[in-house]
Order: sequence, then C-alpha cells, then structure tokens
Amino acid sequence: MPLNEKRYPDCTSCGRLACSSGLKEKTPESCPMVFDEELFDRSFTEFQKENLNNLACSAALVEAEGYCKWTRIEEIIAFARRLEYKRIGLAYCIGLRLEAERVSTILTNSGFDVVSAICKAGSIPKEKLGLTDNNKIKPGHFEAMCNPVAQAMLLNKAKTELKVVLGLCVGHDSLFLQYAEPPVTILAVKDRVLAHNPLGAIYAEHYFKKRF
Ligand code: SF4
Ligand code: SF4
Repeated sequence: MPLNEKRYPDCTSCGRLACSSGLKEKTPESCPMVFDEELFDRSFTEFQKENLNNLACSAALVEAEGYCKWTRIEEIIAFARRLEYKRIGLAYCIGLRLEAERVSTILTNSGFDVVSAICKAGSIPKEKLGLTDNNKIKPGHFEAMCNPVAQAMLLNKAKTELKVVLGLCVGHDSLFLQYAEPPVTILAVKDRVLAHNPLGAIYAEHYFKKRF
C-alpha cells in the first residue's frame, strides 16, 4: 500500500506550518492533526506525568533563556541544573577522547559528578563479534569492537541522572540509545568528514549535491 494511503505524516512536504502558528484554518487535510487527532491527546497525557512535565518545562525554559546565546554545552549544563541533577554520564568515542576530557572538565567545574565510558571499554576483539580480519579498518592488527551496550550499562549502573553522548558514530549511537536508561542528550554526533557537523552536507549543497 502506498504510504499516503496509510495516512502517515509527511510534514516536510507541508510548508503551511499551521501546527506552529496555531492558525487551524490553514491546516492541510493531509496533516496528522486532522487524521490522528486522538494520538495527540494520547501523547499529551504523557506530559501529565511529573517527571516528564519537569523535563519538558526545563527544556522549554532553557530554550527560551539561552535562545541564540548559549552553546549546546551551556544548554546541557543549564538543563541539568534546572532538573537538579548531580551525576552526569558521558558516553564517548575514542576518536574524540581529547574533546571528552575537556567536556568532562567543564562539567566537573560546573559542579557535576561526571562518570565517563569510552566506546572501546571491554577490549573485546572484533573477531568475537563475527567480523573477519578484512572487515577491520587496519587488517592484521588488533581492533577492539565498540561496545555501546557496555557504555550504557556502565552509566546505568552508576545511576547517572543524565547521559550525554559525544561522538558515537551511526549505528553505535543507535545501540547506546537502545540500552541507556533515559534521559539522554546528544552533545555531538560523529561525522569524520565534516568536523562532526553533518549538516555541513546540507548547507554546502553546491559542493555536496553531486554525491547525493
Ligand atoms: S501543519 Fe500538519 S502537516 Fe503541516 S507541518 Fe504542521 S503537523 Fe505537519
Ligand atoms: S566505531 Fe564509532 S564509536 Fe567506535 S571508535 Fe569508531 S567511530 Fe568511535
């Protein structure tokens, strides 16, 4: 069955943004607010839960207070402070270990207890996962598998109140998110080509359009 017959949202094709403006008369027929009204009611009942309400209000207040003034690190600090969190978990990629050291220092100097776990912790050889020598970045050498499941378990065990992801790559971040107890926020994602700024590929369209 084609997607549109099943009435899935297609917000990127809308352009009217009636959801944002509140101008209901501009809502297109194809909008999920029209064909999935009940879902929005159901979603909102989740916000009645005290913990979720706190998270949502803190996020909105940080957004308003730091709007176009604070960097993402500052927003994370402000968010954690609003929620009165004390212990922050940092899950990071070995490729960003220097950045992780700095982030850890910043968070510590901001008054948090920082628990950090690197992606290679466990030192399990990639072969154990079923990969062959040819599948490695440098065949013929020892390569530890990345273990985002262990990263999540270590931070869960340390009872971190907020987890911060720094530079985990595509797929390994998916695994981390699958096992990490919430809440989790992302400080940076991995993009080795674009200085960890994946949207560079979108903003520099003239440069990248041949690739896509
Ligand atoms: S108005 Fe509806 S379809 Fe358009 S962007 Fe908002 S939610 Fe999506
Ligand atoms: S596999 Fe991903 S998380 Fe692991 S070292 Fe490489 S980039 Fe970092």
